[in-house]
Formats: sequence, C-alpha cells, structure tokens
Amino acid sequence: NLYNMVQDLKGNIRVYCRIRPAFSAETKNSIDFIGEDGSLVVVDPLKSHKDARKVFHFNRVFGPTATQEEVFKDTQPFIRSVMDGYNVCIFAYGQTGSGKTYTMCGPSGGSTKDMGINYLALDDLFQISCRRKNVVNYDVRVQMVEIYNDQIRNCTGNGGLSLPDAIMHPVKSTIDILNLMKLGETNRIVSSTAINNLSSRSHSILTVHVQGKDISGSILRSCLHLVDLAGSERVDKSEVTGDRLKEAQHINKSLSCLGDVITALAQKNSHIPYRNSKLTQLLQDSLGGHAKTLMFAHVSPEGDSFGETISTLKFAQRVS
Ligand code: ADP
Ligand code: MG
Repeated sequence: NLYNMVQDLKGNIRVYCRIRPAFSAETKNSIDFIGEDGSLVVVDPLKSHKDARKVFHFNRVFGPTATQEEVFKDTQPFIRSVMDGYNVCIFAYGQTGSGKTYTMCGPSGGSTKDMGINYLALDDLFQISCRRKNVVNYDVRVQMVEIYNDQIRNCTGNGGLSLPDAIMHPVKSTIDILNLMKLGETNRIVSSTAINNLSSRSHSILTVHVQGKDISGSILRSCLHLVDLAGSERVDKSEVTGDRLKEAQHINKSLSCLGDVITALAQKNSHIPYRNSKLTQLLQDSLGGHAKTLMFAHVSPEGDSFGETISTLKFAQRVS
C-alpha cells in the first residue's frame, strides 16, 4: 500500500510531534497550535499578522489532550518490529520542560499511573514473549546509560565508559523494570546534585537487548534504544562560560550530528556521518540499514518559548 511505499522511500524514519498541555500560569500568551492529522499550524501569540503563522508536516501530531496510551498505540508497531528482529531507536527531542521525560518515563514522582514509552514498551515485549513462548524463547536484557559531555556513564552502577562495558541487567517482568528505573532515577538524582540539573544536559539511553531462539535453534538478535535527549534550547554564549559553555557546546554538537545522520539516512546518502558524536557512534547499528527510527519532537505552548518551538519543529521537519 501507499503508506508502506512512503515508509520505504523514507528509509523507516517517522517523526511525531507532541504538544504538552499548558500549565494554568501559562494560559495567557500561549502559542496557538492548529493541527490536523500530520499538519501543524503554529501561531505566534505576540503577532497577529499572517507572517506569524508557520506550517509544518509530520507523520502525526499529538495535541495537549493526547494520553500516554494514545501515544503508545502509534509507537507499538516499532516495538513489535524489535520482536521480529529489527533494531529500533526512539528519540525524545525538544527544549527542557517540553515533555520529553513525560513521554519516555511518565510524570515525575515515580507514580505508576500514566507510565511512558519505556515502561509500556517493555510491558509489551514481555506480553509478546509470553504469547510466543511455545515457538520462540526470548531473553531480554537492559542497560541504562547517559551521555554527558560526550562521555558515557552507567546509570545503574559504576564502571563502563562504553556501551559494551555498561552493566547488563537480565529482566523477566515489568517489576524488574520498575526496580531498575528506580535505581537509575536515584543515581541520576545523586549525580544531578553534584552537577546542577544534570538530567536536562545529558542524553539518557535505555537499551533493550532482545534475543529470540526458536524451536529449530536459530537465533534472532535485536535491540531497542529509548533515548531521552538533552534539552535542545540554545544557550546564549555571551551569558555562559566555563563548564556551562562546554556542556552547551557538547549538546549542540551531538544534537546537530544526530540531525545530520538522520537527514543523510532519509536522503539515502552514501556517506552517513556517524563518527561525529558519541551519541551517533553508540547508536550506529540501530540507525540506518534495516533499522527503524522514531523521533518525537516535543513543544511547549509557552509564549516565551516561541523561538525554541519553531527551531524544534524545523529540526524535526528536516529529519522527516
Ligand atoms: P523535559 O523532560 O522535556 O524537560 P518534562 O517531561 O519534565 O520535560 O515535562 C515538564 C513538566 O510538564 C513536568 O512536570 C511534566 O510532568 C509535565 N508534562 C509534560 N508533558 C505532559 C503531558 N503530556 N501531560 C501532562 N503533563 C505533562
Ligand atoms: Mg527531562
């Protein structure tokens, strides 16, 4: 069908946009989003003339009332692909405060209500594994790492400056996952007090390794990378110095490298610039080839964020 044809031409890259709801203090001067299917019209709250309207196109747009379940429903085909042997990367992109962590993990505070893609994806993997248990025997292991200043850190213990060295946790149920997420969260909180608000300045990666062995003994391997990216906001170079400036430069560089890689893949270029950042190097095997990529572009309705919102949407439009 036509949809599959378009997917093939695009090399299995899909881009979804998610608009977070406005907090009550933001309802004044908030950005107007008018969306239908994949189109999105953005209206600058401070200007009323026609130039203040910008139009973007994505594979899907999720408005402020979209639930975690609705978002997951359109993510599920990617999770199913992992069980069939495809490598998959799912990214949450956007400025700090736009809802990246909400989409990937859920609301802050560790409640098990409104869980995000990380949890729902693993829950789905376990359900599929259970359904197929007479035909395929699946083994699931996860790693939790973050990339800060182009260096990989393990979130669930010490050691490991590369993904192969990072601790591999065998998981059998969603309870194992919840415990690991808690451990990862605790470690992140500890390091984020040492490095002020680290979570918005590092890329957080949950990697799920799946190995399936069927009755004939043949083995299928794949992995799923769930990536909560560092905040994409531009940092005013005239205002930051030292460590803050170094962080900002690392983030800018790695996000633009990611954009370059995905754009090169979408355009089917012969050279894909994976080696320009740790992030794209680490994900190389799961970006391009037969792998599938899903990017969530997160935007905030806050009027003051208009510039960042437009630059997020431009980034996402470029890779789609
Ligand atoms: P980011 O990770 O991009 O910095 P967060 O995910 O932390 O942003 O979101 C900022 C705040 O907005 C959090 O308090 C979060 O719970 C809330 N939030 C984000 N998206 C939604 C949503 N779709 N529905 C309800 N609350 C949301
Ligand atoms: Mg976050």
